[in-house]
Amino acid sequence: MSEKRLFTELFVPAGGDASRPAEILVEGGRIAAVASPGEVSRDLVEVVSLGGRLVLPGAIDGHVHFDDPGFTHRETFETGTRAAAAGGVTTVVDMPCTSLPPVTSAANLRSKLAIVAPKAHVDFMFWGGVSGNSICEESWRRDVADLVSEGVAAFKLYLLSGMETYRDLSPDEIRDVLEELVPHGLPAGIHAEERALVLEATRRLRGTGAGAPRDYADSRPPEAERAAVATMRRLCRETGARVHIVHLASGAALAEVEAARREGLPFSAETCPHYLAFTGDDLESQGAVLKTAPVVKGAADRDALWRGLADGSLQHVATDHAAAEWPREKTTGSIWSDYGGVPGVELMVPYLYSEGVRKGRITLERMVELVSSEPARFFGLTGRKGRLEPGFDADFCVLDPKGSWTVEAERLHNLNRYTPFAGWTFAGRVVATGVRGSIVYERRDDGSETFLPPGTGRFLKRESRAAGS
Ligand SMILES: [Zn+2]
Repeated sequence: MSEKRLFTELFVPAGGDASRPAEILVEGGRIAAVASPGEVSRDLVEVVSLGGRLVLPGAIDGHVHFDDPGFTHRETFETGTRAAAAGGVTTVVDMPCTSLPPVTSAANLRSKLAIVAPKAHVDFMFWGGVSGNSICEESWRRDVADLVSEGVAAFKLYLLSGMETYRDLSPDEIRDVLEELVPHGLPAGIHAEERALVLEATRRLRGTGAGAPRDYADSRPPEAERAAVATMRRLCRETGARVHIVHLASGAALAEVEAARREGLPFSAETCPHYLAFTGDDLESQGAVLKTAPVVKGAADRDALWRGLADGSLQHVATDHAAAEWPREKTTGSIWSDYGGVPGVELMVPYLYSEGVRKGRITLERMVELVSSEPARFFGLTGRKGRLEPGFDADFCVLDPKGSWTVEAERLHNLNRYTPFAGWTFAGRVVATGVRGSIVYERRDDGSETFLPPGTGRFLKRESRAAGS
């Protein structure tokens, strides 16, 4: 590969839904220029045509569970990042709770890094965390500081967890962790559902013998999420720590997020494609395939989340990619014991482009903010990731706006191939993905695909005290 590469015959976003013809010069893996066609000299550069396609900044999926090491019957870092590459995602931020040992100490982080780094097709960061298990260790405060030094992206905390290896924290324990995070400036990402309310509803429903998908929905009502977000709003106000609500699912919880932001608190939230696409009716028809926590809500919630993405009251989209061993863990015979989780990293960009941009719910410019520039800022990658500008890593997603295709679960690239989006037809298809100037994934017109070998992806450390909301 020559040192300089010039990507030609492409369009880049140009505000609102507009795009303009451009060429991108890459040097040493970074963008050296985004120029008008013909502006850059062809001397001593390798020219790569992108065939008149739309080039977007590579997406950052800030919420994935790749389960490696420990639960590799569900996902591996190799298959997860392979699916990311095929979906135009150039950076993933992996959760600390679904690998073993959990990323609650620097030693645990290093052991995970050594195992997953050779498997990475795209760049990656790690969430660190404090769990109900780790907070019992005397060293937990020092572990937090050590994890910050190791470059974790943020800290994951649960108000309600179903995992024995990563238990939830009480609101008072969460306050202690938030206080510990304040001097570091790192955000806490909160799974926000009120524990007592969900456990009580679950006990009551299971006691009556209820076991339909709808009963699972009833065990996790919108009020459980709203009340937990209200608790986090109070803890944010009391501590001044940065609080981020992961996988927000309901309109009532969104109203709490908006109220917190109106107060001027450092409060943000993300939602996921499955909350934008599906409701309780779909849970009824799809059953465990769509089981995840929080559970999908109603049509009014779905509409509120789209409105929040458009008007800025929601800051990012992430997938909460969490695969079960398919079909075994999704067909246990009871909705209560079926594994909760939906894989999604490969479909985030196609879904948002087709259902968001092409259907007029969000502009192309807003989509790029939601999956690229805003997550980059949130995870302290400002100046490195998330924009097609000189000095930034040459991470990009090449989208064929004319390509229309129908999702077939077995053609996805993650380990366990099921998806609630099976049968959906999307307008626009990811045909190539670039990470630091290298094409890590390419899909040709005849449907054949190539990937660069795993190990291309790099571990990204968060620079602490980075600017951001
Ligand atoms: Zn998650």
